[in-house]
Amino acid sequence: MADDDLKKTFVMKGIGVSPGIVIGKAYLFDRLDAQVPFYKLSDPGLVTGEIRRFRKALRESEKQLLELKNRLGDLGGGMEPLYIIDVHIMIMRDRKFIDLTLQNIREMCVNAEWAVRMTVDKYREIFDRMEDDYLRGRISDIQYAGQRILANLVGKERAAIELGEGIVIIAADLSPADTAQLKIDKVLGFATDIGGKTSHTAIIARSIAIPAVVGMENITRAVRTNDEIIIDGSAGVAIVHPDPEVRKRYEEKKRLYEKAQDDLLDYAGLPAVTKDHYRVEIGGNIEFIEEIPSAILHGADGIGLYRTEFIYINRERLPDEEDHLAHYRSVVGVKGLSWATIRTFDLGGDKFFPDMKPSRELNPQLGLRAIRFCLKEVELFKIQLRAILRASVQGKLRIMFPMISGIEEIRAAKRIFTDVKNELLARGTELGTEIEIGIMIEVPSAVIIAEELAKEVDFFSIGTNDLIQYVLAIDRINERVTYLYEPLHPAVLRLIKQVVDIGHRAGIRVAMCGEMAGEPAYTMILLGLGLDELSMNPLAIPRVKKIIRGATLKESKTLLNKVMTFSSTTEIRAFVEAAMRKRFPEEFLANGQ
Ligand code: PEP
Ligand code: MG
Repeated sequence: MADDDLKKTFVMKGIGVSPGIVIGKAYLFDRLDAQVPFYKLSDPGLVTGEIRRFRKALRESEKQLLELKNRLGDLGGGMEPLYIIDVHIMIMRDRKFIDLTLQNIREMCVNAEWAVRMTVDKYREIFDRMEDDYLRGRISDIQYAGQRILANLVGKERAAIELGEGIVIIAADLSPADTAQLKIDKVLGFATDIGGKTSHTAIIARSIAIPAVVGMENITRAVRTNDEIIIDGSAGVAIVHPDPEVRKRYEEKKRLYEKAQDDLLDYAGLPAVTKDHYRVEIGGNIEFIEEIPSAILHGADGIGLYRTEFIYINRERLPDEEDHLAHYRSVVGVKGLSWATIRTFDLGGDKFFPDMKPSRELNPQLGLRAIRFCLKEVELFKIQLRAILRASVQGKLRIMFPMISGIEEIRAAKRIFTDVKNELLARGTELGTEIEIGIMIEVPSAVIIAEELAKEVDFFSIGTNDLIQYVLAIDRINERVTYLYEPLHPAVLRLIKQVVDIGHRAGIRVAMCGEMAGEPAYTMILLGLGLDELSMNPLAIPRVKKIIRGATLKESKTLLNKVMTFSSTTEIRAFVEAAMRKRFPEEFLANGQ
């Protein structure tokens, strides 16, 4: 293919998960890049040293693989894994693989890490051209061998990846740890092969307010580092090599989008009250304490969901009580926020810290995550609870347990909480007087037994991201089934209604903190459902407030009642979208939604 052909404009479609438009240069991110320093040698005299390092890393890698092979052999379990290890060893001994790397070091004058990476890339190019699917897939063995060599070259040290300005990250996927290792302030946007609207990559992109499109399937194959690229996170597209005409159009679209965002800020400081005086509390969802100023700026009344598992992510050692405390002290009783809801850590699923072994669970979303993990790792749980309680003296605190599926779990969590509280009181620690305990309603069984659960807690918060995942049986991070991910599914609406009604009958507050709460197209439906609090990513608050302030509770209930008579999602969606367009033409027509 000639260079000119390569520069032709093309558009790729995915799932827009964080709105806005950016125009920048692509950077193809490989998970290993986050840990590996790549640099040119400042002096050709350093070449010999790099060659020595490479050979040493080869020897170490081979030794480790042989040890692994022996261990596996002792365990029994068939020959297949042993053959695979043999293949990796053969690659490491392969003359061509070694010579190419040595040649890269000598001729390009780069460090050994970069040379290995170039060798693997070269093989990838060759394998990409293979017709046979099976053979093409075998590149993974070369990549594996390369990664092991790189890991040995890097040793334990990790360096944050150095990025130029104005970069759009292109990756297969970005774990929270990956994002944390990138110098995120230089990143304009993300585009990834996999993921869905509520995968944590998407949540992070929204929380740091950078446009993102996920689930693009093969953008990592179509785009190269330094390609010019536009990401439109609202429309869910990436435009590669935009021609001047397209570029101009997007520059204008970007300007308009940013102006609309600025205008919406006028609503941030106003209360979320309908025209007929129904007041909804507005929470901000945060992953990092650095987002608190944004929550205040965008008009949150309090923090409705602090995802504390992010304290565990991207660190070499587990956080201790003082680490936790420092975080909670920044969020409880903060000026400008009336309350803080701290969710105890929800690790597992698609959120892990470095020592966890996600691969051990074939089905992590149904595995040992959230409260299940806490009740197994009681000491870890207690450390967090102690720190939360110590911070309670600063202001109004709501503690929330994730993924409760049965009464035993909430009772066990409360027992541990009471033990920790009593220990602290016995020590003379001063605690706050305004502490509420709540649970997330995100497993269908919790909806079914909501009446019993309501007797145990002060509030419910509906986590629609998981509730929808579990009730519709779709993996929230699997882009192949995102078309089934439907907040307006009649089953979902009925479940939400059930939870609100039961909660209110029991005299407790019912909040919603899943992504559904921040979607303005659903705001009237949620008003009609009678939720007391909507908690969302801070950027979404002004627009949701605008809708609430422009609507009445009465019309919202009428809308909901009508919607509840439909049996299909298609009818509901068409009806709700048409109603919102009619009611708020400025909001829903101008944005093409
Ligand atoms: C949810 O499941 O809706 C939720 C808010 O929790 P998370 O997205 O962190 O699982
Ligand atoms: Mg959840």
